[in-house]
Parts: sequence; C-alpha cells; structure tokens
Amino acid sequence: MLILMHAHATNLQVDAVCREVEERGFRSVKLPGADRVAIGVLGSNPISLRDSIVNMPGVAEAVPVSKPFKLVGREFHPEPTVVEIGDIKIGDSAFVVMGGPCSVESEEQLMETAEAVAEAGGHMLRGGAFKPRTSPYSFRGLGEAGLKLLALARERYGLPVVTEVMNIEDVPLVGEYADMLQIGARNMQNYGLLEAAGRAQRPILLKRGMSSTIEEWLLAAEYILSQGNPNVVLCERGIRTFETYTRFTTDLSAVPLVRELSHLPIIVDPSQGTGKWKLVAPMALAGLAAGADGLIIEVHPHPDHALSDGAQSLTPRHFAAMMEQLRLVAAPLQRQV
Ligand code: PEP
Ligand code: MN
Repeated sequence: MLILMHAHATNLQVDAVCREVEERGFRSVKLPGADRVAIGVLGSNPISLRDSIVNMPGVAEAVPVSKPFKLVGREFHPEPTVVEIGDIKIGDSAFVVMGGPCSVESEEQLMETAEAVAEAGGHMLRGGAFKPRTSPYSFRGLGEAGLKLLALARERYGLPVVTEVMNIEDVPLVGEYADMLQIGARNMQNYGLLEAAGRAQRPILLKRGMSSTIEEWLLAAEYILSQGNPNVVLCERGIRTFETYTRFTTDLSAVPLVRELSHLPIIVDPSQGTGKWKLVAPMALAGLAAGADGLIIEVHPHPDHALSDGAQSLTPRHFAAMMEQLRLVAAPLQRQV
C-alpha cells in the first residue's frame, strides 16, 4: 500500500504515520516526491491498515499497490534508478559494456583480454573466479587467485570488475576484490544469497534464472532491496525454450517490459543468451535498440582453447568490431557507447 500525504503535510505528521505503520507490525518506507511525500507500507495485507490511516492528519489517500514487488516496482518509485560504479553510471543515457572472459584462467589470458576490452572502449571487466558448472568435473574457476588477477587487471587497465559470487559465505571475500557482485542465473532464487547480497556494500548484477518468469526475477531483486541495497542491475541472459539451435532464447521483450514494471536498470547478456559467438553482435545491437542500459559480453583471446564458454566468446577483434557497430546504432538513439 502507498500512503500519499498532502502537499502541505508536516514532517511531524509524516513521522506519526510511519510510527503508526510500524506499531501495527508493518515496515514503512518514506518516499519523498517532487511536491509531496508518499509512504510505502510493506508486509502482508497492509490494506487492513487503510481505515485507520486515512483519518490521520496530513494523509490525502491510501492506495493499494497492485504488484507483488514493491520496492522494485515503478509504483513505489517512479524515477529510474542509476547505479554508480566509480565514474560509471548504469541506467543513464550512457550504454555500458562489460567485457571479459567467461572464466579467469591465467594472468596472461586475463591481461590480454582486459587490454583488448579497454582499448575497444569497454567500460567494465567481467570474469568468473567462482564458476557454476553443470558438471562437477568441469573447470570451476581459480577462486581467490582469480579475484586477485581481476584486481590486478583493474589496476592496470582502469576497468571496474564484475564477478560472480556463488555462496553466502563468499560474499565478503568477493566484495573485497570486486566492484560489482554478480548473482548467476542458477542462483537467482537462492534467497539466502540474495539477502546476503542485500547486506553487501556493493552493487549487484542479478541475472535472470533460465527458467524464471519476469515476476519471479523482480521478486528476487525485491529480496536484495528489502535488505537495504538499492543498487541492483538486472540482466536478461536467455531462457530455456524448445529451440536447440541456440543455447538459450534471449528474451529481448524483457527489456521494455522490465523498464515499464521497474525502475532498476537492465542489461543484456547475448553470450549466455545465444551460446554462439556469431549471434552475439546482432543480439547486442538488438539489445541496445530495445532500450537496454548495457551489455555483458564474453571475450577470449583464444576461444578454441577457453576453459568455459569458448563457443560463445568473441575474439578481441570481433569485440572491437561489435563496439564500432554499437556506436553507429547508439547515435540516432541518443545513447553514448
Ligand atoms: C556467466 O556469466 O558466465 C554465467 C555463468 O552466467 P549465467 O549465470 O547467466 O549462466
Ligand atoms: Mn559464461
């Protein structure tokens, strides 16, 4: 429920309403607007409060919020959220490209990739140190040694780092090295991990689960926001369909839909989203055209020898060519790459 205060309501009246809400066992969130304050009420069945609240001094009306995701939805928060990572702003007119290997494999591989990403105009470095793999016998990442390499690459090439955290107990460790924590598709409904991410002092990249609806995904983001971390970027990374020629089906309709439903920024991962490097640039361009706030792209100097996801990785040359194409598409859309 959203309580709308009168434009001339005093701070004391706003505080009195918040107190009443809390005393009745709900959470209140003050939402200052351009000309009046609204108060969000969180909890189950908040509408039961309505009759007593509407008669309090300063209250104009109390309206039910129709969507199950409250903090993430546009109803509570109409203005778009801009997530800042150093000088980089995600959710603004700039189009932010994160590039790097699927997995951090070695110093040589990571530095070569980071240099290429920076040179081509990429804005952030990606790379997994903790890898969720379907088979326990596949390469599962270098762990902390991989995090150290990412930090070294950031120092050398000036690119902020985004990397996956798979376990609750690793959140502080990964947060020590990374500028942004990625929660992968396979963990999108790991509610303990989401809450730990909500308590972390880092922005979160929340991938869509491969079999999750948009509503489940937004409710996963709600877990993070409900713990006090407002800096969440959503990432459409493809969903499972009957199609087998692609690894996943990149659901680009999620981009304008999420934009309508939520104030959070949204980026696209056409690498996981297609599984085929030749499809990555076309879907990246389509993501920009659909209104995404950015991309996350897998790049490897020698995709044939990659320890994970080589088939969907761009070479540095293909990454640079994609960046050129993105600039051409961005200009008439008044976006900057
Ligand atoms: C990845 O980014 O390499 C990855 C494993 O992503 P997802 O969680 O989307 O599969
Ligand atoms: Mn990958």
